[in-house]
Amino acid sequence: MNFRESASSGLATARGVRLVRRIYVPRMLGLALGAVCVDAALYQVGAPPWLWGLLAFNGLLWPHLAYQWAMRSASPYQRERRNLLLDAAYGGFWVPAMGFNVLPSVLILAMLSMDNIAVGGLALWLRGLLAHLAGAAVALLVLPLRFEPASNFTTLLASLPFLVAYPLTIGIVTYRLSLQLSRQKHELRRLSEQDPMSGLYSRSHWEKRQTEEFQAFQRHGRSVSLMLVDVDRFKEINDGHGHAAGDEVIRRVGQVLREQVRQGDIVGRYGGDEFGVIFPGMGAGEAHKVAQRIRASLAGSGLLAYDGAAPTLSIGIAPLLPGTPSCAAWIAQADKALYKVKRAGRDGVEVYPDEASASLFAPQS
Ligand code: GH3
Ligand code: MG
Repeated sequence: MNFRESASSGLATARGVRLVRRIYVPRMLGLALGAVCVDAALYQVGAPPWLWGLLAFNGLLWPHLAYQWAMRSASPYQRERRNLLLDAAYGGFWVPAMGFNVLPSVLILAMLSMDNIAVGGLALWLRGLLAHLAGAAVALLVLPLRFEPASNFTTLLASLPFLVAYPLTIGIVTYRLSLQLSRQKHELRRLSEQDPMSGLYSRSHWEKRQTEEFQAFQRHGRSVSLMLVDVDRFKEINDGHGHAAGDEVIRRVGQVLREQVRQGDIVGRYGGDEFGVIFPGMGAGEAHKVAQRIRASLAGSGLLAYDGAAPTLSIGIAPLLPGTPSCAAWIAQADKALYKVKRAGRDGVEVYPDEASASLFAPQS
């Protein structure tokens, strides 16, 4: 077995163990309460003593055996599904044994069906129906045929605890499970949307938001600008002071960006030492002012990179222009402006197509 196979079989085992644990207490309760109503119905038909023994085994011992069996199995998940089918077969057996007493029969089969559907959907439910039939066939073979469908008052009373308590228990288990799932979903979404180091949007989520803004511009023509920010000589920080110092610079730049932009601006880590910001409703002139504010804020932040100097930033801005064919083209424009700053010696801001055009795209006040 290679690493991938053993990792996936480990995951399957963990999933199976979780299922076995989740089912243990409800099965214990369900089979014990189910045994109470079967008990009353067996009494009603005057069942032979060995059936009481079998009922005691099924209602009290079997849940623990099933648990141990599944937990010790090489494939707990598969074993647990088979155990559920054995539950279903026992259920089918009790129907003829009770002389087809309607109330406990319907109750038991309905609850077992609910369990099977909850774990394995319609497919397991159908297999459960076959297991009911198999169990009923065994009972018809070994027991004399009786038909006493009417429940007396004792059987009715004995059925009530099962009828009330079991669905409540399943409801609580299902509710807990759905809470857990929704927490996991939330956590997964956070992990996929957030860059763990800077706390900003991850590149993939930032690009998704960029596409939304691009499409909104095509629909409504509202101005929107994009800014690419790159830390100057970041490799030197890493090489001179170690990766941890580099990481700290990335965190602090992320913090400065967050502090200097408006609530609805979209800030992400584009990769390495590069960040992207989208300013909905903002022209290049205003974005340029924000860029200068960001540079000043980092310079005054007290953060030292190398030679006792604060790290500096190169920033390229691209207002979205009518006719820009794609998000990639929009990014390339900002990148061009950024590259111009780098070529001119870094530590500055440039606007695509040029700084003079910034005033053209500035909002009119
Ligand atoms: P320039 O001024 O031209 O941008 O030069 P530079 O040294 O900043 O060059 P560049 O932007 O290409 O360097 C990016 C470096 O960032 C390369 C990579 O080793 C480093 N890097 C990427 N991700 C991380 C990270 O998460 N932490 C740290 N500490 N370094 C990173
Ligand atoms: Mg850099």
